[in-house]
Amino acid sequence: MDIKAPRGVRDILPDESWRWAYVLDVTAKTMADFGHSEIHLPLFEQTELFSRGVGDTTDIVEKEMYNFTDRGGRNLTLRPEATAGMVRAAVEHGLCAQGAASRLWCWGAMFRYERPQKGRYRQFFQIDAETLGVSGAVADVEVIALSAEIFRRLGLRNLEVVLNSVGCPKCRPIYRDKLLKHFSAHKGELCKDCLVRLDRNPLRLLDCKEPGCGAVANAAPAIYDCLCDECAAHFEDVRNGLSGLGFRYTLDKRLVRGLDYYTKTAYEILSGDLGAQNAVCGGGRYDNLSESVGGPHLPGVGFAAGVDRIVLIMEEQGCSFGQCPQKEVYVVAQDDTPAVCNAVLSLTHRLRMEGIPAEQDAGDALGKKRSAKSQMKSADNAGVTWACLVSQDESHNIVIAMKNMNTGEQTTARPEEVARRVKESYNI
Ligand code: AMP
Repeated sequence: MDIKAPRGVRDILPDESWRWAYVLDVTAKTMADFGHSEIHLPLFEQTELFSRGVGDTTDIVEKEMYNFTDRGGRNLTLRPEATAGMVRAAVEHGLCAQGAASRLWCWGAMFRYERPQKGRYRQFFQIDAETLGVSGAVADVEVIALSAEIFRRLGLRNLEVVLNSVGCPKCRPIYRDKLLKHFSAHKGELCKDCLVRLDRNPLRLLDCKEPGCGAVANAAPAIYDCLCDECAAHFEDVRNGLSGLGFRYTLDKRLVRGLDYYTKTAYEILSGDLGAQNAVCGGGRYDNLSESVGGPHLPGVGFAAGVDRIVLIMEEQGCSFGQCPQKEVYVVAQDDTPAVCNAVLSLTHRLRMEGIPAEQDAGDALGKKRSAKSQMKSADNAGVTWACLVSQDESHNIVIAMKNMNTGEQTTARPEEVARRVKESYNI
């Protein structure tokens, strides 16, 4: 076929999808333990939600969004991240009306027009958790602890929590001016993207990956001296909270994250096993996001973690994904008489209704039944424990030969006995 999946878009095939299911199961349980309720958000939103929420000067909005106009002339965008949609949904449905914390989570595909490479795709999947409606540091600590706990339960090793504060609209302008002064004095060493960013958003220069810019950014002033009293106290509370829970973290004055909506806390969890795309999770506080998209004041804090990258690291580190779903029984028709074919169909269905994974031959591409020998080959390839060979005896009774594929032992059974025998064999 000359039509392929679009560049940067992957199919998650059956031999990988069960690993994803495991990661999502563990995530769902951890989210519930931390009091987060699941929400399903739309895959596309009004473009304005992201241009105003995520910020006009971010890479995401400037270069990476999949924008389109629908037949009604509406400007829409495939969601590049989940936080803005979460805040929109919480406001639209009054989920924070009671004035207490509203803890939500979701997972699903996000879309960004980025240069594809290992661990970076144009359609990728995120797990996302948000705590809305509260401004205290407890929520920040909880959210960081939640992300770390998901990774602990999944068995991920070699992770590092990196923390920073990006201040608030009161104190950030002072820091912005300091940065502008610093970077302007080193214009000759900056890449061309950073020269553009310098006027629009000098904070973004701090996380440029170009070596020249990196050296200048390393020598840049840290935000800590500029934080207002409120941001400084919040930052200290977050740090104390994390230390109190026994979390180790590294401070990184260059961590600003690629989204404009962050205030105060910004953090990432990095993996030593991911190469260039080493961030497995990123998040922080965004107290003004709701207002920037026309909503009420609604402080919030959350994180997003990449499922593609989590699975990649787990595979590299040899982590367990639980048990791959087993195929138990293959029901084989010994001949193609209607009585045998019907018996195969009904035995397979009966086993499935008993919760026993069962397969049968569905014929070939031309609709022809396959021989008993080819069906046995399929049973072998499927790795089933039992092959049930269905035939008729001289008195036209249906008989089943149950062959244990591991031991080669074979016994006969009536159709109604097969499920019980298979179940009994689990307990041996
Ligand atoms: P962000 O929304 O940019 O803060 O990203 C949060 C997490 O999503 C990252 O730490 C990655 O694990 C994952 N992620 C972000 N962008 C991509 C991408 N293009 N491909 C795969 N995973 C991604």
